Amino acid sequence: MNSNIQHYPVAIIGAGLGGLTAARVLHTRGIDAAVFELEASRDVRTQGGMLDIHDDTGQEALRAADLFDDFIKIIHSGGEAMRLLDQDGTVLREEFDDGSLERPEVDRGQLRDLLLDSLPEGALHWGCKVTSVRALDLPAGRHEVTLADGRSFTTDLLIGADGAWSKVRPLVTDAQPAYTGISFLEADLHDADERHPEEAVVMGPGMLFALGGETAILGHRETDGSLHYYLGHRAEEGWIDTVDFTDAEVAKTAALRLLDGWAPQLRGLVANADSPLTARRIYALPPTVAWEHVPGVTLLGDAAHLMSPFAGEGANLAMHDGSQLALAIIANPGETGRALAAYEAELFARAHVSATESAANMEIIFSDGGARKMAAMFAGHDDQREGELHA
Ligand SMILES: Cc1cc2nc3c(=O)[nH]c(=O)nc-3n(C[C@H](O)[C@H](O)[C@H](O)COP(=O)(O)OP(=O)(O)OC[C@H]3O[C@@H](n4cnc5c(N)ncnc54)[C@H](O)[C@@H]3O)c2cc1C
Repeated sequence: MNSNIQHYPVAIIGAGLGGLTAARVLHTRGIDAAVFELEASRDVRTQGGMLDIHDDTGQEALRAADLFDDFIKIIHSGGEAMRLLDQDGTVLREEFDDGSLERPEVDRGQLRDLLLDSLPEGALHWGCKVTSVRALDLPAGRHEVTLADGRSFTTDLLIGADGAWSKVRPLVTDAQPAYTGISFLEADLHDADERHPEEAVVMGPGMLFALGGETAILGHRETDGSLHYYLGHRAEEGWIDTVDFTDAEVAKTAALRLLDGWAPQLRGLVANADSPLTARRIYALPPTVAWEHVPGVTLLGDAAHLMSPFAGEGANLAMHDGSQLALAIIANPGETGRALAAYEAELFARAHVSATESAANMEIIFSDGGARKMAAMFAGHDDQREGELHA
């Protein structure tokens, strides 16, 4: 082995919300963790989208990271509101933000900035795309990581926080993401109250679900007054390749075809979109993914349990995983194996619950009568809460 090779006791691959949370919690307890991110800087790509941060996962992680008070300052007041419509534009349910802080909304980019700014100078290594990883024979649990620019380093604890197409995952499992059968088209309408008043009204102050059989619009009003949405629909994996999404008009025509017969104000979200429509396929790992403990390496977030986004849990779980892993490491000084085993046992159990829920929600959202089924589901939650209050 080359003795000049750089060594890091803890190396986290990926500066998403999960990897950054793990690094932050470790650093607050005096444990150095180096983060390697393929993007060249924090500004290379707009993070986009709103996230609701759940009290029992994402918020708990922010508390463990000593960032809860700063998080409160960036929440989108009013953003917890929700409207559920069918394709005719009939409102089946409307909720208002009661300021409960159960699931407050934040801008994903602002949340990421909060975590990035909390790390010490030099902890983040930008422009470091991991291309391969391998276990070394000695000492046990040590790994070598190679980057796209040819550099390599070794580490005693390799944490794969590198998302859906993780390069670290094959060290622990052969599981691969599979296409869920749902494709998304994503777009924005800017300055909505002024420029797109009808679409602003239909979106409401927070989140929108508009469901019609095999097609659904899932949207948010953003903190800058724009509207952001995903138009999801059941499609063959190759459908996206049959439309020239680089041609804005061709893309809009294809998207509007999916909304034939829908209410004009909902079609307006597509017809009047300011941004191009960006297409993406939704993939997921099997909900049961788990592995036998492998010394010196583990996964968190999407790398561990990529799931469809229909439970709204992925980012929350990634942060929760990051904090739980860091806390397990802190609680077991010098005993990484014990720390990872404790972390992984809980990781598999909680990921299974969320992934199963997400897959079940997906079936409801993209089914005939999905809007009414979802309204009934929310009503069921109300009854359950009532029952708990009176128990
Ligand atoms: C359309 C959509 C909507 C969603 N909505 C929600 C929602 O409302 N609420 C919610 O909780 N979740 C939502 N999710 C899920 C959420 O986005 C993910 O679960 C979350 O981002 C996972 O975080 P992560 O840190 O594990 O991975 P990521 O956010 O994917 O971060 C991984 C990081 O690793 C880097 N990386 C990747 N490969 C390499 C490499 N080879 N070398 C170095 N770096 C690498 C990437 O550049 C990235 O920065 C949504 C997902 C989608 C697709």
